[in-house]
Amino acid sequence: MTEAPRDSDERTERSLNFIEQIVDEDIAAGKNGGRVHTRFPPEPNGYLHIGHAKSICLNFGLADEYGGQTNLRFDDTNPVTEDTEYVDSIKNDVRWLGFDWENEFYASDYFEQIYQFAETLIQKGLAYVDDSTAEEISAQKGTPTEPGRLNQYRDRSVAENLDLFRRMRAGDYPDSAKVLRAKVDMASPNMQLRDPIIYRIKHAHHHRTGDAWCIYPMYDFAHGQSDAIEHITHSLCTLEFEVHRPLYEWFIQQLELFPSRQIEFARLNLTYTVMSKRKLKQLVEEKHVSGWDDPRMPTIAGIRRRGYTPASIREFCDRIGIAKRDNLIDVGLLEFCIREELNRTAPRLMAVLDEKPLKLVITNYDLGREEIMHIENNPEDPSAGVRDVPFSREVYIERDDFMENPPKKFFRLFPGGMVRLKGAYIIKCEEVVKDNAGEIIELRCTYIPESRSGSDTSGINVKGTIHWVSVPHAVEAEVRLYDRLFSVENPAADERDFKELINPNSLETVRAFVEPALVAATRSGSLTNVQFMRKGYFILDADSTDALPVFNRTATLKDGWAKEQKKG
Ligand code: ATP
Ligand code: MG
Repeated sequence: MTEAPRDSDERTERSLNFIEQIVDEDIAAGKNGGRVHTRFPPEPNGYLHIGHAKSICLNFGLADEYGGQTNLRFDDTNPVTEDTEYVDSIKNDVRWLGFDWENEFYASDYFEQIYQFAETLIQKGLAYVDDSTAEEISAQKGTPTEPGRLNQYRDRSVAENLDLFRRMRAGDYPDSAKVLRAKVDMASPNMQLRDPIIYRIKHAHHHRTGDAWCIYPMYDFAHGQSDAIEHITHSLCTLEFEVHRPLYEWFIQQLELFPSRQIEFARLNLTYTVMSKRKLKQLVEEKHVSGWDDPRMPTIAGIRRRGYTPASIREFCDRIGIAKRDNLIDVGLLEFCIREELNRTAPRLMAVLDEKPLKLVITNYDLGREEIMHIENNPEDPSAGVRDVPFSREVYIERDDFMENPPKKFFRLFPGGMVRLKGAYIIKCEEVVKDNAGEIIELRCTYIPESRSGSDTSGINVKGTIHWVSVPHAVEAEVRLYDRLFSVENPAADERDFKELINPNSLETVRAFVEPALVAATRSGSLTNVQFMRKGYFILDADSTDALPVFNRTATLKDGWAKEQKKG
């Protein structure tokens, strides 16, 4: 019999999803000798998105749970839209997510075998060459309540069909002149069974088979056949294929192939984005975004560049679970997953996100004096240690950490008020200096020498702590603040064109001043994800140059200020 599932302890703690239940039943019934073999079958016509991540986690996760295997199979039966650039990006993304496939296969490798399957159907009188135009075929198809009409081509002899099909393959006809159809049932209530097209003529160069073929199998005549060739036990696909399942099974039965079992689950849909490769491709090609890896894109490449980690995406896929009904998941859940992780792992550093920050001059701190403050990298993780942060007479702070006429309960800086500079001293605002136009150009402050963090003997209690960057040590950076790409919750369900729904403010680029450790460490690769204290989670972007580091905002901090305040 079969091995016990690997993480049986974990399984008993939660209820099994419906796919696990089916697999358990199959194993109990002795099907496939207890073997579980899944596949992830992307069409290489675009980059993978977070919806694919769900499918990847499901397929690889299931195989892993049952001690089985997963193939990576490129469903490359459509020569016109496919490209090796996409193949490479898909492999890269699956690996980055933390999965490794058993075999790397291509549906195009099976073209000869699939072609032979078609001849077998013809020989069994179960397929025919149809000369009708696409319009005629769809007009003859009927409606769900009316049966389709049989045409004269349906009665062609086996010999004639074989000859015509071979000539289709040989290139005797132009595109669309003929198709091969399975002879199933033109009266079936399931429209998919009304003599579906299984081969079409397409004189097009294929990214792998070159010009070897000018006929290509349709999805329904390639997918299940590929599953069967690979002896896939459980073929997991999204709900829209439920109506294709009878056809999937019909081919397997007629061709007497390995009985792969198709199981459908709900697609992942996410708020404030679109999730179809076709639409994502349009966004790229029409330059609404900077590329497939634009950090606003729901692609794996975009999400990665945005600063998400593989673990956070796997956690997200775990939390959304596997359902049988389509639903729309709040993108806030994805953000929650990365925040949870980065709160534990990302060092906190200081950055002032303001191209005209407020300069604070500490008048009783000697000119030219410098001190190194030792600031904890992550209060959630003492093992993350401390880092050196230079302090001097002049520091930048955020403009909105100061108010000239503060309301009650404003615990940051105001004239005559006191605040702690994070990890350094308590300072008091003595004087507001303005230019002729009345704009504040600097604050003159004094510091309390006895209040140094870690050895504070001042006895003074202040309510607010603000972040700062020493002016002579500050490094200028570009910071990209991303927001949702679409301004409506469900652009796919909107009657307006999705491109009209793009959020015009989805990217705000600001100048910032960051502490030097940040740049040194991120450049050396020793730091990846960071928190800018009180501002959010960020990651160094590949657009960075030596002159100007660039940071992407991964996510904002929920309630960051309230937390910081509590610490005093
Ligand atoms: P798209 O419509 O975005 O092009 P697709 O289904 O055509 O998606 P494929 O490359 O054919 O993309 O998909 C590979 C696998 O990923 C399939 O098994 C498919 O069902 C699954 N998949 C695609 N989109 C989602 C999604 N949003 N949620 C879950 N699984 C998905
Ligand atoms: Mg597809």
